[in-house]
Amino acid sequence: MRSISIFGATGSIGSNTLDLIRRDKTAYRVIALSGAGNIKKLAAQAVEFNAKIAVTAYEDRLEDLQDALRGSGVECAGGANAIAAAAALPVDWGMSAIVGAAGLRASMALARHGGILALANKESLVCAGDLLLAECAAHGTRLLPVDSEHSALFQALNGENRKALRRLILTASGGPFKDYTLEQMRGVSPGQAMRHPKWQMGERISIDSASMFNKALEVIEAKYLFGCKPEQIEVVVHPQAIVHSMVEYIDNTIISHMGSPDMRGAIGYALHWPERAINPIAPLDFTHMEALSFSSPDEAKFPALRLAREALQLGGHAGVVFNAAKEAALDAFIAGKIGFLDMAGLVEKTLYNAQIESIRESAQSSLAQVLAADAEARALVMENI
Ligand code: NDP
Ligand code: MG
Repeated sequence: MRSISIFGATGSIGSNTLDLIRRDKTAYRVIALSGAGNIKKLAAQAVEFNAKIAVTAYEDRLEDLQDALRGSGVECAGGANAIAAAAALPVDWGMSAIVGAAGLRASMALARHGGILALANKESLVCAGDLLLAECAAHGTRLLPVDSEHSALFQALNGENRKALRRLILTASGGPFKDYTLEQMRGVSPGQAMRHPKWQMGERISIDSASMFNKALEVIEAKYLFGCKPEQIEVVVHPQAIVHSMVEYIDNTIISHMGSPDMRGAIGYALHWPERAINPIAPLDFTHMEALSFSSPDEAKFPALRLAREALQLGGHAGVVFNAAKEAALDAFIAGKIGFLDMAGLVEKTLYNAQIESIRESAQSSLAQVLAADAEARALVMENI
């Protein structure tokens, strides 16, 4: 029996992970499940999967969680420190699926178990890629990407000589505003931005897909995961979301990974790796498929991609500054304080703010330093709104 923990269990990735586990419950012992505000769902999951401990990120919701779990035998805890402590409980397989930099501490703790870290929380690599990879290496933990594009790349790189790698080609659906003019994009609402044409995901990543900040984070994520140069990572718009990414080799061969746009594919791959297992996703039918198309992203409409490349060039703490500014700008957009197009402007302004130049330029040497840079960048965004 494998012991597992899921951080961000109540979210889209977390629920999809439990959906796979549900099909073979006897194979797993669930140790920790975490959520934040969705107490009812967290409690129901903890009871159904007989978890050892359920943790809410919100200390002031602990009482609600205790009420919901009274008599169940499941331990309860609340707060960010409690999540980090639960992530330190040893497991064979840990899923990091909290949204945003808030997931960083859980990823770092899961990296210390020497088992498998299934990483959906791309922000962990964007903010502290050097630290997370070092932690995995030090403890013999296998990091498996769950992001669909990176799972696709991981699979297309399997067994190949990395020296023969020429390019990683990340596909992007283009989001709901792919065919909008800049003028039309100016007035879009958070509700419109949340409606992703192909993937069912959490609200924040859906808006990030609409602005292509999600793809921007993925470029940085790919650089850390696959250790390639930023200029080897290309982004191609592919609205059908069937090709999940591609690898080009020096002999001009391209290996592409294809499948239905359903995250249970990538989660299932990480769950069963190195084996493959039957999963519930719809198989592809090439005889009834819309034509597949590919085009270059419009970087004037989606400056996020350029900014990610600039953050990679800057190095040091530029990734955490970039992500924190993006998260704070996204909060402001959701709250109706700024427009959709203002998000990129705020990120750019923060990335190049003279006040945080020294922080940005220093090497990632501790988690505390990364978290301090995160807080500094968020505060700067608030000042500029
Ligand atoms: P969701 O918004 O659906 O879920 C987020 C999870 O994090 C929920 O369990 C939520 O709890 C919890 N949470 C929210 N805020 C905090 C906090 N401050 N501290 C601790 N926990 C918190 O997100 P997704 O599942 O869509 O995404 C999760 C991660 O996976 C992100 O990093 C995303 O980029 C990545 N990812 C997601 C994909 C997808 O298809 N959804 C695809 C590829 C990557 P609650 O709901 O109880 O409030
Ligand atoms: Mg993705």
